[in-house]
Amino acid sequence: MATPKKHLSHSKSGGRRSQIHLKLPEIFYCPNCHYPRLAHTVCPKCGQYRGKTITASH
Ligand SMILES: [Zn+2]
Repeated sequence: MATPKKHLSHSKSGGRRSQIHLKLPEIFYCPNCHYPRLAHTVCPKCGQYRGKTITASH
């Protein structure tokens, strides 16, 4: 059975959600234009993903 909130110490109730924001989004650099982008996404600058042009470049 879960412990009631009023029975927990402040460190325990605060520590429960301390692990949520540990993971940062992975940044990869585009092999074509070296623009920093998120992993597994199309490059917003040149529109390339894994050597293929997905969107028309500006
Ligand atoms: Zn690029």
